[in-house]
Amino acid sequence: MRLKIVQAGEQVLRQQARALARDEILSGDIQSLVAHMRDTMRDAPGVGLAAPQVGVSVQLAVIEDRVEYHARISPQQLELRKRRPVEFHVVINPRIVSSSEELVEFFEGCLSVSGYTAVVARLSSIAIECLNERAQPVRLDASGWYARILQHEIDHLFGTLYVDRMDPRTFSTIENAERHWREVPTEVVKERLGSKR
Ligand code: ZN
Repeated sequence: MRLKIVQAGEQVLRQQARALARDEILSGDIQSLVAHMRDTMRDAPGVGLAAPQVGVSVQLAVIEDRVEYHARISPQQLELRKRRPVEFHVVINPRIVSSSEELVEFFEGCLSVSGYTAVVARLSSIAIECLNERAQPVRLDASGWYARILQHEIDHLFGTLYVDRMDPRTFSTIENAERHWREVPTEVVKERLGSKR
């Protein structure tokens, strides 16, 4: 089933989502939420979807970066972003337990800010602890684009959108960003747009 993805302005995107108890995770309600969120993410398509984006204020997100999504991106850009396929998985009650000091800047977008994109600085690698959909504790070590996806989804669970972290002068429609900046290094984009950071 495809769920409705709420857009910026809906208050649920600004609330801190509540953590899920282990028995709740195993309940039919949450198990079917996971299945519906997986279908909704694939249908969008997107590489991550957090429960608040479908109007449910719980600390749960689904993530998947399929190799077919990479077909439209040049090998150089994939390499620059360190973007590699990520298998479908579920992240519940996540906490960042360690991270790199290095920040990396690229355009990113959000299914709840539909049609737009901006440059966002993210930690180049992070480790998180969370539960999976079987309520088992797991640790995930992520770098490159996967680390960006995780940070973006975890932000959603705490009421933060990428627009809170973006370099505001780079805010653009996706169409214009692809037309003007597709193969342009982020530093050059920022310089040409008069970004002070
Ligand atoms: Zn998002």
